Amino acid sequence: MNELAHQVLAERTVGAVDLPPAEGLDRALRHAAPAEVIAAALQIVGRERLAVVSSFGTESAALLKVVADVDPAIPVIFLDTGWLFEETLAYRDTLIATLGLRDVRSIKPLEAALLREDPDRELWFSDPDACCRIRKVEPLQRALAPFGAWINGRKRFQGGARAVIPVVEDDGSRLKFNPFANIAREEIEAIYAVAKLPPHPLVASGYLSVGCMPCTSRTSPDEDARAGRWRGRPKTECGIHTAQSPPD
Ligand code: SF4
Repeated sequence: MNELAHQVLAERTVGAVDLPPAEGLDRALRHAAPAEVIAAALQIVGRERLAVVSSFGTESAALLKVVADVDPAIPVIFLDTGWLFEETLAYRDTLIATLGLRDVRSIKPLEAALLREDPDRELWFSDPDACCRIRKVEPLQRALAPFGAWINGRKRFQGGARAVIPVVEDDGSRLKFNPFANIAREEIEAIYAVAKLPPHPLVASGYLSVGCMPCTSRTSPDEDARAGRWRGRPKTECGIHTAQSPPD
């Protein structure tokens, strides 16, 4: 960790309400390596208050590998929407075993919300934002309740709203760490190659980005990796990164 990061951390006080401002941390960690960002997050909030959120998608193993190298007991939250590919569920289990992840929490939507708002399982078609809200956004907010900060794997090279993400940002009542914000696609590939990480099973079938079944399609070589998500719709994000955490 660089000198500025030490300086910012030295000024912290303990407890969620006294967390250092995200802007200062972002300045300190702007050029830090992903493992340094994760180690800094651990120092700031402690393991009990820090979570990783992972989709166990096509690039997820890279971040999970770096996390596991820092501390394999950091809780990992996985949103099991009820619409995931079987291959993704299997990949989750493969990566748990491969990386030795000790605390992966598979979070499901509330049955009551599904019965009330999506009894016919057609909400993904009629109102995908509402579907993402009950299957992803609200379950994540519940799952993050005990935590003071969370880590995710967004990269600037993914473009769109992600092109300008900082390394550390405010997320309402929490800090959000984006340790891969600066990383290049080639570096992700290098992490897979060096650690011999297994690819997501659907990559071989032409899926470059994998989410829920009804909202994921294959991409052609000339397309952006996320072009297959919500194809034909203006939607590009599920909402977990655009909704801020409500106050505790
Ligand atoms: Fe529903 Fe599609 Fe969102 Fe999954 S990605 S929660 S199926 S709208």
